[in-house]
Amino acid sequence: MPDPITNCQKDFFKLGLVGKKLGHSLSPGIHSLFAEQTKVKITYDLFEFETEQKFLDWFSNNDLDGFNITIPYKETLIGNLDSVSPEVEKIGALNTVLYFNEKTYGFNTDIFGIAETLKEVEKSTTLVFGSGGAAKALIYFLQDKSDKIFVYNRTKSKALEIQEKFGNKVKIVEKSDLDFCVKKSILIANCTPLGMFPILDSMPYKFNSSLKGKTVFDMIYTPRKTFFLRDAEKLGAKVINGFEMLACQAARSFEIWTAREITNKNV
Ligand code: NAP
Repeated sequence: MPDPITNCQKDFFKLGLVGKKLGHSLSPGIHSLFAEQTKVKITYDLFEFETEQKFLDWFSNNDLDGFNITIPYKETLIGNLDSVSPEVEKIGALNTVLYFNEKTYGFNTDIFGIAETLKEVEKSTTLVFGSGGAAKALIYFLQDKSDKIFVYNRTKSKALEIQEKFGNKVKIVEKSDLDFCVKKSILIANCTPLGMFPILDSMPYKFNSSLKGKTVFDMIYTPRKTFFLRDAEKLGAKVINGFEMLACQAARSFEIWTAREITNKNV
């Protein structure tokens, strides 16, 4: 892993975010607040690529110090970096790249964002909607905290890949099992884009029973309260949106790039 002392002596970093459609990204604003807090100068630009190949061409030929990655390219660089963290190795998805001394390093700071967001949640049975990079990050965090993790995904083969990675604690379920799984679970998490701006009225599941004593977490942060969370709250659940996760994963990425500590993650 890189030596943080060297980056401590730098005070200007060229950073950015890679994805396909980034028009509404909150990341530039969040990182400029962290830059003010740590008194370093940064640029944080948005890099949109239509294809993986265009991203890969750019990746080996730019002058950045590091960048974040979002949908749909979190798996693109697997096998193309000099070193990745153990978490990236396990889940096969990364959201942070560091260029350091001519070498490239990959990290998954979504896991840190999830851990900060769910730090109050006790060991529990969990229902996860989705099987993409964000779902895998959540399941990585939950593997020691949950006795059972139900996973429902539109494409069953992707859910089965998760079970292969994480073992029998993960139970792949069908749509017809969902009422039962909701009743059994203490934590219910949406890791799909269903309900995200601008298609506000979609959701992964329509709740139909009391949710008292349960926590419902939606990784979406635009809007701050999805229809899924609104319904869950009406039925008695504690609800958590994706904003704290967004801010905390960003903070951890910033710390990796700049070797400065973010003491205030409330942006
Ligand atoms: P991803 O790797 O592309 O995975 C998307 C997942 O959503 C897949 O399981 C996919 O199912 C499912 N999905 C997509 N469209 C669907 C639809 N119309 N109906 C049913 N299922 C659908 O994306 P990701 O990185 O995991 O991100 C997932 C969500 O988490 C996004 O909303 C993203 O904004 C959010 N997120 C938030 C944060 C944060 O900091 N708060 C961080 C990361 C991600 P298939 O396998 O069937 O395609």
